[in-house]
Amino acid sequence: MSAAPDVAVVGAGVAGLAAAHRLARAGCSVRVLESSDAVGGRMRTLRADGCLIDTGAEMLPSARGYPATWRLIRELGLDGTWGAVPRVRGALAIWHAGRSRPNAGRPLGLLTGAGLSPRARMDLLRLLTALGRAGLDPDRPELSPLGTATVADLVRAYHPQVRDRLIRPLAAGFFGWDAERSAAAPFAAHLAASGSTGDWHTYRDGMDTLARALADRLDVSTGHTVTAVTAGQDGVRLASPQGTVTARAAVLAVPAPVAAELYADAPPAERDYLRACGYAPMLRLSLVLDRPVAPRGVRRGFATLVPADEDALVNVITVDHNKHPGRAPVGRGLLSVVASPRGTAELLDAPDARVVDRLLARAERFVPGLSARVQTVHVHRFRYGLPEATPRALEARAAFARRPSAPVEYAGDWVALRPCSEGAVSSAALAADRVLDHLSAAPAASGRAFARPTSSEEP
Ligand SMILES: Cc1cc2nc3c(=O)[nH]c(=O)nc-3n(C[C@H](O)[C@H](O)[C@H](O)COP(=O)(O)OP(=O)(O)OC[C@H]3O[C@@H](n4cnc5c(N)ncnc54)[C@H](O)[C@@H]3O)c2cc1C
Repeated sequence: MSAAPDVAVVGAGVAGLAAAHRLARAGCSVRVLESSDAVGGRMRTLRADGCLIDTGAEMLPSARGYPATWRLIRELGLDGTWGAVPRVRGALAIWHAGRSRPNAGRPLGLLTGAGLSPRARMDLLRLLTALGRAGLDPDRPELSPLGTATVADLVRAYHPQVRDRLIRPLAAGFFGWDAERSAAAPFAAHLAASGSTGDWHTYRDGMDTLARALADRLDVSTGHTVTAVTAGQDGVRLASPQGTVTARAAVLAVPAPVAAELYADAPPAERDYLRACGYAPMLRLSLVLDRPVAPRGVRRGFATLVPADEDALVNVITVDHNKHPGRAPVGRGLLSVVASPRGTAELLDAPDARVVDRLLARAERFVPGLSARVQTVHVHRFRYGLPEATPRALEARAAFARRPSAPVEYAGDWVALRPCSEGAVSSAALAADRVLDHLSAAPAASGRAFARPTSSEEP
């Protein structure tokens, strides 16, 4: 077992690993404690059946939308070889009138249609222009001019096709959100920041590439489940069946409901926010195929959005072998089916066989002959899939953001209610800097001081 570190980080998802990396760069000794047997969390990639199976996150937009992520990619040299973080071709299509309509969410779609009528396309342009001008800050959703309006409120004044074929399926399929309940501010800020779907990228070697590269440089203990966190005069104690760890400070880089359970004595403003941060569950099937088939209308494209009036249980079908040819062996295929919020509610706790039966039967309509092609199926369940920004969470966030630095800090996509890996990565820099402030205010007996790392690319 390692000596007591300056900082213990709970969770080896991208948030925890990025926070640990920044703290280590500042000169802290850091130990990362991860309950599962591998790093990556919701950005994990399985290596099975000759395939690279992304279990959670699938893609990342360009540096304009994900600046913190791309800063890390460059710092670690992950884009050093050609094609290591390639663009995804034909990223998004909409299922309409019996086939996938490509070019959704990109300028070309305004010409080709992308499943929307000319009036709906004009309205989409109007919506995107309004969002672009609204000055939305993805890291401070509680200050948004949209206030506590929901996603449904945001799109009410726009063409029904924009609402029902694009925005609602996007919020549901990519975030697991119910448009009537979830706050528009973080969704709109994410949409405005992410730009065109023509700029989506993936990692050639699996979506866990960033997590693995960070973990290689850090002291990470997998199979180490933290069960309780307490803060006292002499630092933080992290209890676990694998042994108690003490540290001068800790970062809880786990979903908010897990952090609330672990740190029962959190100060009131933190507790309020932790409890207000709900999560939408997500459910997805990965299908390893004996041949590379795809939804009707897709040739080289990646994801097809399925509106709720087309299917109540299936929300997105992704063609992983088109995302990057290395995802499946030559001549074979890899495809995933993401359940809708209704499908997830119905099937999250059902046995695998039932999940497969229900979703595969539905997916058959979009990919005729699919069942006959399936060799192996992997079911991925995320009880804490994506943070759901309810108006109540937005209200509680202001007090949370104003809290003084403390021995226990937080990182994760929920910190700014930004339901994506960029939210997780950007929260990590904030958490690390707050820990450094805390350690500087209460120097160790050794008198060691830590300085915030700087990079020429940082704002
Ligand atoms: C189905 C799905 C699709 C997605 N698609 C995209 C996408 O295409 N693009 C995108 O940018 N984002 C996407 N996301 C969101 C993205 O995956 C997450 O925002 C991001 O990975 C969250 O990282 P994190 O470090 O905050 O949390 P996590 O990845 O959840 O990491 C938390 C870690 O803590 C560990 N842990 C939990 N409890 C304990 C404990 N008690 N002790 C020790 N360790 C513990 C967990 O095992 C986990 O490894 C998707 C998410 C899902 C679920």
